[in-house]
Amino acid sequence: MANFLASIFGTEQDKVNCSFYYKIGACRHGDRCSRKHVKPSYSQTILLPSMYQNPAHDAKNRLTPEQCANHFDAFYEDLWCELCKYGEPEELVVCDNTNDHLIGNVYARFKYEDSAQAACDALNSRWYAGRPIYCELSPVTDFREACCRLNSGEGCVRGGFCNFIHRKNPTPDLDRELTLATKKWLKERGRDAKSVSRSPSPEPTRRRY
Ligand SMILES: [Zn+2]
Ligand SMILES: [Zn+2]
Repeated sequence: MANFLASIFGTEQDKVNCSFYYKIGACRHGDRCSRKHVKPSYSQTILLPSMYQNPAHDAKNRLTPEQCANHFDAFYEDLWCELCKYGEPEELVVCDNTNDHLIGNVYARFKYEDSAQAACDALNSRWYAGRPIYCELSPVTDFREACCRLNSGEGCVRGGFCNFIHRKNPTPDLDRELTLATKKWLKERGRDAKSVSRSPSPEPTRRRY
C-alpha cells in the first residue's frame, strides 16, 4: 500500500495531492484546489510568481517586437547575474503563458538546495521594477515534465492559456554569452562553493547600462 501510494504521488491517479502543483509548481485552482499543494521544505528550485512583467501583455504596449525582445533579454540577464550571487544556477525558466496562475512566473533551479534556500531568503526582501519580489521553494525538478510538449515545434492550440509552461527564451546570443560567462566564473571560482579559492572572483556581471 505504501509503495502504491508512493508510486502514484503527484500523478493524475493521486486523489490527495495535486498533480499540477507537483509537476508545474502552480495550478489554476490556487488555494481553492481540492487536492493538496505540498510545499517542499528543501528544493533546488525556486519560484518567483508573476515576476516578469511582459510589456507585450499590456494593452497600451507600443514597443516593437525587437524592443520587447531587448526588454526580456535585460530582465533575463539581470536575474541570471543576481542568481549567481547565491550559488550555481542550472536552469532559468520564464513562462510566456497568459493565464492567471502562470503569467510571468519565473523558475530557477540551482545545483544545490542550499543555494536555492539562500536565494529564497534574500530575494523575499528585495524589489524588482518597483514591485516587491515574492519567492518560494518549488517542487518542480524536471522542466521537461513541466513544459508543454507542443510549445516547441507545431505550436499549442491552447496558446497562452495552456496549463503547462510555455517557455520564453532569451535571444540565442545572450544565452550563449551567459553560458560562457558562467563557465568562466565557475572555473575561476572553483567548481563548487566548497572549493572556493582564497580570492574568489566576482559573479558574472551585466554587460550594459
Ligand atoms: Zn491544485
Ligand atoms: Zn501548451
